[in-house]
Amino acid sequence: MFLLDYIINLSIFSLLVSIPLIIQSFININPIKHVRIWGGVYAGIVSVILIELSFQQQGYTYDIRYSAIILSFAYLGPIPGLIAGVLALMTRLAASGHWAPAIIGWAAISAGCLLVHWLMPRIPSAQKTFILYGVYLVIYGITVPGFFHVFRGQPLFHFQYVLFVLLGVILGVLLIESYLKLYRLNDRLKAMYKLVEESESNYRLIAENTSDLIKVMDKDHRIRYFSPSHKHVLGYELEELEGMELIGWIHPDDAANFGSTIQLMFEKKQFYSMEFRFRHKDGRFIEFESRCMPVKGEHGSIEHIVIVSRDISERKKSEEMLLQSEKLSIVGELAAGVAHEIRNPLTTIKGFVQLYKAQNVTFEYSDLLLNELERIEAITSEMLTLGKPQAVKLVLADARELIESTVELISPQALMNGVEIRVTAEESGFFITCEQNQLKQVFLNLFKNAIEAMPGGGKIQVQLRKGEEGICMVSIKDQGCGIPAEILPRLGEPFYTLKEKGTGLGIMICTKIIKQHHGTITFESKENEGTLVQIQLPLAG
Ligand code: ADP
Ligand code: MG
Repeated sequence: MFLLDYIINLSIFSLLVSIPLIIQSFININPIKHVRIWGGVYAGIVSVILIELSFQQQGYTYDIRYSAIILSFAYLGPIPGLIAGVLALMTRLAASGHWAPAIIGWAAISAGCLLVHWLMPRIPSAQKTFILYGVYLVIYGITVPGFFHVFRGQPLFHFQYVLFVLLGVILGVLLIESYLKLYRLNDRLKAMYKLVEESESNYRLIAENTSDLIKVMDKDHRIRYFSPSHKHVLGYELEELEGMELIGWIHPDDAANFGSTIQLMFEKKQFYSMEFRFRHKDGRFIEFESRCMPVKGEHGSIEHIVIVSRDISERKKSEEMLLQSEKLSIVGELAAGVAHEIRNPLTTIKGFVQLYKAQNVTFEYSDLLLNELERIEAITSEMLTLGKPQAVKLVLADARELIESTVELISPQALMNGVEIRVTAEESGFFITCEQNQLKQVFLNLFKNAIEAMPGGGKIQVQLRKGEEGICMVSIKDQGCGIPAEILPRLGEPFYTLKEKGTGLGIMICTKIIKQHHGTITFESKENEGTLVQIQLPLAG
């Protein structure tokens, strides 16, 4: 019977300790005000229940109220400990007589607990529980068998009693500690989840909003991740890509190099950078520069390769352009040098032809010869002025003369292509304030485009008119291939060209120069019929 009472008491105590812990882990209660005080009250109620559950053994009352009191001192602090203690004492006094040992014992134990709390404020609660139990043990020994002579000759009896309280304390510590451990673990887990979620959302944000193509390749060369940028850069839906072999959308000439580099990466575990072309959904190839980073797994072998590719076609184009313009400037310099060299012998030849003409009046081709020589002279001097880098110099010039000298300059090319350029003007005196060389460059570009648009030859009609409010209107009309309507709005974009060897810079430069001269330039075109370029420039004065 005794053992059964013992076990029932301990079990009910465990249950009572567990209840608040269980409630807290299942229900997310907002932090309660003065939670420790309420904890003390609860511990007091537990002590009251334990006193009610007490049982008699050889006329002595067995209860484990001190287990609850010690635990509340250790885990909740001195005030909750005292609250629990007072509630327990009052119940004990109401329950039975022998007040003196109960009151003195309680006072001494409380004083001991307060002292421990004061001497060792920072000690962990579990450890503190056992120190407090030690205090209780000493005071019990001194007061009960010592001072009050209760069953002095029966140590086993007292041993059973203090063991009863110790078991209560141990059960309480185990329950509370395991709960706290779980609670801390849960907190840590929550914090970790939050951290992972945050960094994941950061990476997602970057990966999903970059124009770079990001891919993650597995050990078996399968792609397990495509960034959404694949859709707008290459035109594929992500679902389409998932089933595709990467090699299938790399340019056949680059595929072998790509394959061997990837193989090498898995072997050498090194970072590689390479250039290859990806096929756009519409069939054309786009040039990419790709940085491939190997990602090591747990055992040091390569688990994944992260491939970050950037569209470099614009860069390639501008590099090519740079090379081309460098070449052109060298050729330009050479041409200017040649033109300079030609001029001297030309003057001599011209002088001699004139002399010959004066001496031989019958020489019928002299005028033709002289005309042609003058043409050569005009072209070479045009080339010299255009080729030379000059400081920007605004002068008053006649647009008609400007156009005519440009026509002169381009005429050899026009002749070669079977193109005839005809300049007409309804009036005269188209004076404009301009930088002559720049305007010549505009007309040269436009004539060149017109000639290139008529590989089979044709006519270019240049017309000068005076518009309203002192405007000089120049229209250049060709009979060439025309410009498709969808391309018209893109004219003037740098590097936009439909020609294999074009630079796509001509119209951009023209627009810029005309704008600097406070004028406008417009393009009208019909495919296979021709193009009409209209320029408006303010007349001087
Ligand atoms: P590029 O001549 O180097 O290609 P441009 O800027 O001069 O560069 O011209 C851009 C594009 O506009 C050309 O590639 C051509 O397709 C189109 N284009 C310009 N002028 C004409 C024209 N007169 N007739 C037909 N197409 C033209
Ligand atoms: Mg051009």
